[in-house]
Amino acid sequence: MMSHSKNCNGPFCPDSQQPRVCTAATDQLNLGVAIIDQDGCIVFWNQWLQRKSGLQCTEESNTKLLEAFPELRGGRLEQAVNDALKHGLPSLLSQSLNKAPLPLYDDLADRSQRIQQAIHVTPLEFQPGARFCLIQVNDVSIAVKKERLLREQAEILRGLAFIDSLTGVANRRRMDEYLSDEFRRAARNNSPLSVIMLDVDFFKQFNDTYGHQDGDFCLKRIANAIKACLNRPADLVARYGGEEFAIILPDTAFGGAMKLAEEIRKHVENLAIPHSASPQAPHVTLSLGVSNAQAYTGISDRTLLAQADEALYQAKQQGRNRVVLFEQKA
Ligand code: GH3
Ligand code: MG
Ligand code: MG
Repeated sequence: MMSHSKNCNGPFCPDSQQPRVCTAATDQLNLGVAIIDQDGCIVFWNQWLQRKSGLQCTEESNTKLLEAFPELRGGRLEQAVNDALKHGLPSLLSQSLNKAPLPLYDDLADRSQRIQQAIHVTPLEFQPGARFCLIQVNDVSIAVKKERLLREQAEILRGLAFIDSLTGVANRRRMDEYLSDEFRRAARNNSPLSVIMLDVDFFKQFNDTYGHQDGDFCLKRIANAIKACLNRPADLVARYGGEEFAIILPDTAFGGAMKLAEEIRKHVENLAIPHSASPQAPHVTLSLGVSNAQAYTGISDRTLLAQADEALYQAKQQGRNRVVLFEQKA
């Protein structure tokens, strides 16, 4: 139990029973309580702080806060203590701006992670001229952890909102955004941009023959086959609708896009997924339409998509299992 060696009129006068009760009470608190005198000495350091810092400190030990914790020099906590002692100003050091100023740990044997702290600094004036500073330290580690978890979950949800749950590729919403961004970028830089739209041939018959589950599995394999053919990080494949996929190819002229579309067609054909009901072939095949923008007057991202769709329609008309490039009619 501490007694006040300097000033018996101070808050820790041993003659009074009240401070003993107060000390016992603050030792039960689940937060850190410290009192600093005008000379920067720690005159009170509750048990919570002793446990979490390893610093045993009584009023008699005349321990200065900055000597016990030299790392506080020049920091926000030192400034807040000075503001309280010299100017009678309170401060709040939130955990978001002041990352754990005091070296406090749940387990002193493992100092890898400090307790996250929200610190209130309050001036105390028991009598004119005798100013002290009260420091309250709240452990906000759990709140910080929860906040981080919520942020991570929000990020995952945001990611899921842009992913097609069956195939794991981008969904139509993501594709719309991406196409719009890339179209604007391409127009600004006057760089080529290509779009491939593809559709599984006679997929209704596939479902009718093998069932919806096999149909789903087939779509997954096709999505993976498309992904395997894409080389550049900027290329994006999205599930556009039921058994239709769209591929956005930034910085790609029509020659490159046609080559890639043909590669995808062959790759899926080589998977040799049986399709006994197809009038086209004994295995699953694709039809693909390609559009490309080189000049950006009188055309929008929607036009580019519609042109790829029109080319896909032509591919179906011309007998399926092929790639057709959109060409403007004269
Ligand atoms: P076409 O060669 O003209 O494209 O003929 P198609 O049978 O593929 O075309 P249609 O548009 O008539 O049928 C598409 C079928 O794709 C209808 C539906 O049964 C199937 N489909 C759409 N979405 C899914 C899905 O998520 N899973 C499965 N298994 N089938 C789907
Ligand atoms: Mg279709
Ligand atoms: Mg189809």
